[in-house]
Amino acid sequence: MSFKSSCLTTTFGATLLTISVFAGTGVSLAQGEVNLYSSRHYDTDERLYSDFEEQTGITINRIEGNADELIARMEAEGANSPADVLLTVDVSRMVRAEQKQLLAPVKSTVLETRLPAHLRHPDGLWFGFSQRSRIIFYDKARIETPPLTYADLAKPDYKGLICARSSTNTYQIALLSSIIAHEGEEAATNWAKAVRGNMARAPQGGDTDQLRGIVSGECGIAIANTYYFARALRSDVTDLSASIDRIGWVFPDQSGNGAHMNISVGAVAANAPNRDNAVKFLEYLTSDSAQKYFSDGNDEYPAVPGVALSASVARLGLFRQDAINLSTVANNSAKATEIFNAVGWE
Ligand code: FE
Repeated sequence: MSFKSSCLTTTFGATLLTISVFAGTGVSLAQGEVNLYSSRHYDTDERLYSDFEEQTGITINRIEGNADELIARMEAEGANSPADVLLTVDVSRMVRAEQKQLLAPVKSTVLETRLPAHLRHPDGLWFGFSQRSRIIFYDKARIETPPLTYADLAKPDYKGLICARSSTNTYQIALLSSIIAHEGEEAATNWAKAVRGNMARAPQGGDTDQLRGIVSGECGIAIANTYYFARALRSDVTDLSASIDRIGWVFPDQSGNGAHMNISVGAVAANAPNRDNAVKFLEYLTSDSAQKYFSDGNDEYPAVPGVALSASVARLGLFRQDAINLSTVANNSAKATEIFNAVGWE
């Protein structure tokens, strides 16, 4: 592909130039490194990193932790932070870093050409590199007419059937934030109140636990991210994979706004000591092969249009995605939490 070869030639050329400038001077090749603060932890990411190192000659130093820990660390390190790139697996955590002014804007033709506008920050503060949808799962034996929209979840037909996570969960907050963006606060409040009233049990557990609830018979309907289901298709997830055929799924709002999306996301740090390499790394993540490693690592959808889906993700099928900018969604987070509290969605 023409994009890939020209990008990599330029990158490699720049690295060679750096080496020749510093050869024999005894100056350390700090230009040849990039420090990643990453909350990713997937086996397939090894190829992602080694390919970049081979193609560019830039060494990746990885500091891994959960996003909140990494953000706290960057904050504590301040202007002396060695962080070049921050990678998180959810946009709302990246927005926390944005609000703490830990990110630098990036202008890159590669990133702007390869990534759809709604998956990146309008000023280049962060870029989504893979996506997942928060959709409706249901017990095929129990639910004859599954909900087809998020709004349907609020219907009295589904009383006592729905399982969902706590309102402190960022995915749940992002979904309600998108409903606020599309329908307004009043409609979002009514929705949250009715869905809470339709629950089979108090909100609890992670997304996998919502899906397990269908298998155990406790839940007729569950709200969960696509990658938890795709992972259970691909590998053996306890108390889920063996009975996965029992679960049906609906991509909501296919005749309306499309299904709610969230992203795994990367950004350049405000005080990045190796800023050029950081930008090169983000650009590399948009290449076809890196997109595949990146999205396959967490059973997600690639952000770059046209990149092949992994086998487990492909089984879910193609669907209409909500193309609202995730920056707009993330800005409604505080309002969403207020609504959850007001309607008693604990
Ligand atoms: Fe998750």
